[in-house]
Amino acid sequence: MIIKGGTVITPFEKKCDTNVICDGDRITSVGGNSSDKDVFDATGLFVLPGLVDIHTHGGFGGDYMDATEESFDKALAFQSQNGITSVLATSMTAPVEEIEAMLDMTRKYMKRADTPTRVVGAHLEGPYISYKKKGAQPEAFLRVPERDGYDFILKNKDIIKDVTIATELDGAIDMVKELTDCGIMVSCAHDDGREDTIKPAIDAGLRHCTHWYCAMSTANIVDGVRSVGMMETALIDPRVTIELIADNHHIIPALQRLAYQSKGPLGMCVVSDCLRAAGLEAGDNIYTLGSDDGVPHYFKITNGLARLLDGTFAGSVQPVSQMIKNLVNDGRIPLEDAVCAASYSPAKIIGMDNEIGSIRQGNKADFCIMDKELNVVATIKDGKVVYKK
Ligand SMILES: [Zn+2]
Repeated sequence: MIIKGGTVITPFEKKCDTNVICDGDRITSVGGNSSDKDVFDATGLFVLPGLVDIHTHGGFGGDYMDATEESFDKALAFQSQNGITSVLATSMTAPVEEIEAMLDMTRKYMKRADTPTRVVGAHLEGPYISYKKKGAQPEAFLRVPERDGYDFILKNKDIIKDVTIATELDGAIDMVKELTDCGIMVSCAHDDGREDTIKPAIDAGLRHCTHWYCAMSTANIVDGVRSVGMMETALIDPRVTIELIADNHHIIPALQRLAYQSKGPLGMCVVSDCLRAAGLEAGDNIYTLGSDDGVPHYFKITNGLARLLDGTFAGSVQPVSQMIKNLVNDGRIPLEDAVCAASYSPAKIIGMDNEIGSIRQGNKADFCIMDKELNVVATIKDGKVVYKK
């Protein structure tokens, strides 16, 4: 395939009127020409790397926690229609059997080449998180590492790329070390930690901050002494990267700038944290967070934002492609850096930047094609058009 004449954002460079040549599922050159008959005309359009979302729960009515092919297909179709070509299927706090069912289905989908968006692994959001900062996560299934064990994570270490925990729980630091040694990235959020647990956790290998600024510890005064929480530590410690739900609700433009000025485009990534309602009409519909067996948790969409029925912010309903637009138009962040935060940075954070996340020779032939207003007009995965508006 040849993607002809677009403005290519690699994202390290912006190249006008440039062809991208692909052979099968790989990029063979950026620039040059080819006699290939399979031409995608990108004249007047932006050619971005296929976007990568490392924190997403679902879309088009499906939630990965449903652990069914129908729900995986719906969620991946939503991502695909929004320029996203790789995702980490993300769980939520739930009984271990339900998380294991979700992991089994994730494993099945990781082997499939025919999906419109590639599943590159799983992200476990909980259940080892704080009662105080649980946000929209159901309290009944919260666990403590030392008391409850986490063999089910170690058993699935080949597919789990990211586990979000709270550092102050008993046994958390040992857990960080053990998971890091297994090659699993450990992240922090939904925590109520202080410096005395956060710093040791980072020293033990914790490297990422899940949905920065949302449901996490922050600087306050305990026993007459002020100390920082994860929110500040994530900004100042260069070992830690951060996620932004840059939907202009969870992370408003001023916070987008604060994050960007602190971390730069390589220290941050955008994530959708989007729920099953993403891509559906809002209306008065009530949706289930996670799977609907066990203890259901309900939310609805008001003013473009998912909230539990008591008003608590739940996830977003925006894809990361929309967040590029938000960063550029509202956060005043340069286009190349906004694209980087939705492609190369998340790929690098999960250690897959040699395969996905940038337009360079040898990488997967994955692209998000946008018009000049930054709307997605086509998605190309493995050198095949999987969505066209
Ligand atoms: Zn989430």
